[in-house]
Parts: sequence; C-alpha cells; structure tokens
Amino acid sequence: MDLFEYQGKQYFARFGIPVSAGGVADTVEEAVAAAEAAGYPVVVKAQVQVGGRGKAGGVKLANDAEEVRLHAGNILGLDIKGHLVRRLWVEHATDIAEEYYASFTLDRGAKAHLAMVSAKGGVEIETVAEEDPGAIARLHVDPAAGFSEAQARRLVEEAGLPDAAREGAVAILQQLFRCYEEGDADLVEINPLVLTTEGRVHALDAKVTLDDNAAFRHPEWDEYRDIDEFDERERLARSKGLQYVGLDGEVGIIANGAGLAMSTCDVVNQVGGSPANFLDIGGGANAEVMANALEVINSDPKVKAIFINIFGGITRGEEVAKGIVTALGRVTIEAPIVIRLDGTNAEEGREILKGVESDRLISQPTMLDAARKAVSLAGGAAK
Ligand code: GDP
Ligand code: MN
Repeated sequence: MDLFEYQGKQYFARFGIPVSAGGVADTVEEAVAAAEAAGYPVVVKAQVQVGGRGKAGGVKLANDAEEVRLHAGNILGLDIKGHLVRRLWVEHATDIAEEYYASFTLDRGAKAHLAMVSAKGGVEIETVAEEDPGAIARLHVDPAAGFSEAQARRLVEEAGLPDAAREGAVAILQQLFRCYEEGDADLVEINPLVLTTEGRVHALDAKVTLDDNAAFRHPEWDEYRDIDEFDERERLARSKGLQYVGLDGEVGIIANGAGLAMSTCDVVNQVGGSPANFLDIGGGANAEVMANALEVINSDPKVKAIFINIFGGITRGEEVAKGIVTALGRVTIEAPIVIRLDGTNAEEGREILKGVESDRLISQPTMLDAARKAVSLAGGAAK
C-alpha cells in the first residue's frame, strides 16, 4: 500500500525523522487555514501518488493568503500524469541550501535490504542512475545484522555529502531504517533530503510503501485505507473479496491459484500479448465467485479479450462452467472469452459450456492454445 506524502511524513515523524509542520486541505479555504497555522511562507503541495509533482506545477511557494488561494485553486483538480488532485498538503517552507536523496528498499535478488544515498537529490533517482550512476552510494544491509551507525556514516561519506550535512544525515538514515524495518515498509524514500540554510538536515518529501503482508499487526493502517488510491477495478475486486492486481495490458485473466494466475500472465506475454490484470479466484471457487470475477474484468475498458485458465483440483470444472453461464446471464460481457478447462470434472464443465459456446466464447484444449487465441482476439499478433 502506497502512502500519500503527508501520510508518509506522519509515518516518518513517528520514528523521529524531522519534517516540516503543516496540514492537509481539501478546499482553498482549508489551505489558507493550514497555511496560517503552519506560518508563512508555505509550500502548497498536490497529494497524488506519483513523482514529478514539482515539474507538473503541483508544488508552489506562497507568501500570503492571497498566494495560497491562487495556488491551491490551481492545484486542486489538476491532472498530474493521470492522477486527479483532490487533496493538498500545506507546510511551512524551508530555505534549502542543498538537496540529497536517501532510501531503503528490498533487493529481492540480493536477499537483502538496499540503502541508497546521493548528493544529487531533488531530481528523479532513475534519471541520476542513468546519467551519473556513480553519484549514488549503495549498500546492502543484511536483514539479520541490521543497519549500523558505521554503515550510515560510510554511505554518507561515499555519497559525498558535505561536512555540514554529515551528522544530520547519519542520524536520519538510522531513523529511516527503523521506519522501514519496524514500520514494515517495502520502500522508504526521501527526495529531497535537504540541508537548510541554517544547517539542519530535514525531509522535504516522503515516499512510503507499506508491506500489505504485515497489515495484520498494524490496525493503525486502517486509516490509510479509507483514502487509499485504488484504481476502480481494484476497488471493485476488493469489495468482492477477489485477489486482483490491475495491470496495463488488454487480455483479462482469470485463473485458480496464484501460481497458475502468474503463469497465465507469463504465457500471455510469451505469445506476444499483455495481461490486463492478475486475478486468482482461489481454490474451490464456485459459480458466484466466477461471476464476480467476470464482472470485475468486464469493468475494465482496456480489456479486449478474456482468458479463463482453470486447472481443477478442489475447484470443480462444472462449477466454473456454471459460473460462466451465470455471469453471462447477469452482465453483458463486452470482450470475447477463451476458456481452458482441465482437471477435476473438466468433462462435465465442457459439456455445460457447449450450450453457450459461440465465436464470443471459445474453448481451447491447452493453456498455450488458449493464450494464442486470446491474444489474437485482443487484436495482437500471437506468436
Ligand atoms: P516531487 O516533485 O513530486 O518529488 O515533489 P517534492 O516534494 O520533492 O518537491 C519538488 C521540489 O520542490 C523539491 O525538490 C524542492 O526543490 C521544491 N520544494 C519542496 N518543498 C520546498 C520548500 O519547503 N522550500 C523550497 N524552497 N522548495 C521546496
Ligand atoms: Mn520528491
């Protein structure tokens, strides 16, 4: 789960990381009130879960109420890379001397945490990594051993932060690691981490991704969910209790079991298509679950074909088939459906489907055949 900047800063503050005083605002007048409370000058910041807000006009300095009104009015409702701005964060402005970068994330390949620090902050780290990879100091952190002050010091030195920022940065890195580890985050990023003209080191931005697998021990995360930026499809899937992840492609996928659902995504890619989603209807899914799954996929306008891939174990073929028939009676499915049905009671399932088969509902004998059919129905050139 991704947090908005203001939530990320509240999370940082719990671990002692210095952030600016400020408040949230959903209207222009609330922005003025937040600015009065924070003290001028202030920065008015769009709260959307996407980087590069500054460049997109979503971060503006304001010296008085009139300027806050002007900027808040402009930023609320702004579209930043497809994200509509509904909320602002207004904080006391900082006098910046220099901008740095600091983050912790999980490096799955290395089976370790990865710390990154750079003296080149404020710009997107991907750009720095491309143009000047040497400017990013990296360090793998053994999860069993933890992150020591000596390691923090080494990173800060390697990154070439000036003496004036050194102690502050070392302290913040240690707090940031605690926030990452004890806070059960997958990613914590400060960009920019700034040195102020008064010589303080301070977090000006916050990017925090919480590990959803740890949600059971964080009841306090519930408050983040209310305003969580799910996409519409994910919201619908969640309301129906389905394991769904939205992707960008055109082939809608329904499979039973997470492993098969992932393999189905892979095989669609392999034959030259692109999955619109991951959807696992789970073991033992019945007609109702299948109908719900089809409804969710159907709500995605990007889907041009649907690939249902079922290998029955606990899930029974005839239940799946009944679900498809139920769904067809309940909603008008926009895209053609390709089904591969195998395993427990597959024969019975196929028998039921025969009654509804058409050029919009096609059975295929194997996963690969079905993937090819779905990709070509979606308008792709199947390999
Ligand atoms: P992003 O563009 O979405 O990453 O948004 P940031 O929160 O990182 O802000 C973008 C840029 O705005 C920063 O790199 C700073 O240069 C600038 N900025 C943000 N807050 C302040 C502030 O308090 N004072 C000043 N002078 N500049 C700020
Ligand atoms: Mn930033």
